[in-house]
Amino acid sequence: MTEAWRRDALEAVLRDEQRAFAEAHPRSRALFEAGQSHFLYGAPSHWMRRWAGGFPLAIDGGRGSRVRSVDGRDFVDFCLGDTGAMCGHGVPAVAQAVAAQLARGATFMMPTEDAAWVGRELARRFGLPYWGFTTSASDANRAAIRLARMVTGRERVLVFNGCYHGSVEEAHVALDGDGRVVMRNGIHANAVEHARVSRVIEFNDLEALERALVPGDVACVLAEPFMTNYGLIEPQPGFLDALRALTERTGTLLVFDETHTFSSGPGGYVGRHGPTGDFTVVGKAIGGGVPVGVYGMSEAIAQRVWSRVPKVDPAFVRQSAHLGFGGTLAGSALQVAVVRAVLEHVLTDTAFDHMHRLAGAIADRMRAVVTSHRLPWYVARSGGRVELMFAPEAPRDATAVAAGRDGLLEALLHVHFLNRGVIVTPFHNMLLTCPDSTDDDVERGTEALDAFCVDLSERCAP
Ligand code: PMP
Repeated sequence: MTEAWRRDALEAVLRDEQRAFAEAHPRSRALFEAGQSHFLYGAPSHWMRRWAGGFPLAIDGGRGSRVRSVDGRDFVDFCLGDTGAMCGHGVPAVAQAVAAQLARGATFMMPTEDAAWVGRELARRFGLPYWGFTTSASDANRAAIRLARMVTGRERVLVFNGCYHGSVEEAHVALDGDGRVVMRNGIHANAVEHARVSRVIEFNDLEALERALVPGDVACVLAEPFMTNYGLIEPQPGFLDALRALTERTGTLLVFDETHTFSSGPGGYVGRHGPTGDFTVVGKAIGGGVPVGVYGMSEAIAQRVWSRVPKVDPAFVRQSAHLGFGGTLAGSALQVAVVRAVLEHVLTDTAFDHMHRLAGAIADRMRAVVTSHRLPWYVARSGGRVELMFAPEAPRDATAVAAGRDGLLEALLHVHFLNRGVIVTPFHNMLLTCPDSTDDDVERGTEALDAFCVDLSERCAP
């Protein structure tokens, strides 16, 4: 079979699938239509409009890896709230910790007993001694950038083409075909001069990295150690060690954003494979669904921060010098209690072993389906996540991913899967596991992919 699908046929299948989706979900559709009156994009978050069915499912509830829509349909959920629900849905340990803390008070601007345990555990898992809380991963990334600028006195931030780090202005960028810094695809321009504050290079490009850092004007490199937001892009052997060495040599700080790569293990990707950065950021899953971000830093960076904002200075006790980020609810009793529950009872070593086994099974089964249909597609895996890419081999960088992306085919895959009771992350073809994912989930995902390939070959082949 060839991959040059007939576009008109793809569009026709998409229309049929969207019609079937609409017929099966009248209540979800009505709720989305009602939402148009009062939400900017029909739902509480603009991300929620981005489902290929034409409107999002409205959810009644979920348990483990399964969710039920308000239309009474059941789904295997491989989206898991785009990693926010990597603990699974309705997890008893999380629900109990949240309920217990809410009953005793959610926030005091004072620490609770749990904080000492959580601080120790973050240091143990991620190998960095000092930590702070925020209310999102975006906010934790912004905190790391601000601290990096404070201690280096430099403004620029370097990111990799294809990155996403949340609502972080400096990372809303990409490379155009001529190597210029432009707005990342899908993010609207806002009059900020991104080329001044950001530098962008391709992942795995050591020469470009050296050229970008040697001028000595970059405060920090903000990077996922294994890129997850534009396909799954693996670091080439030696790339992360070279990144670490080059940042050290040029006085540039290194921020590893483990918000998604946390699925690689109890201490994230770097906790398993190294090297350690100057900062680590984690968000989403670590709060079990409660908004939490955390940033950690090395002893050396903490010393540099304290040299500017003294750790204990009687002169500042009443009139505090603050760091310029964080929030009233950052580090609240509720956040700390839920992070303790997640780290102590949910995202344990055993849970990661299980997630990795199942993600391995999904990847193997999907590869077998792709091979049986003789399609030139690549299935990548990193820890608990799997990505199907419409390209023949592992991409080295975002430009290689872009060559294989096909918006129409992706939209069709998503709605096709939805109609067969399987949810994948709407922004690309990502399947994530949770501690409650099952072999039956793997089976359902595999069957959905097979049905998709059959439909393509029967209805869309040239
Ligand atoms: N870092 C990474 C790697 C992400 O993928 C995201 C969100 N997709 C964020 C940070 C931001 O998370 P949040 O939107 O929860 O702040």
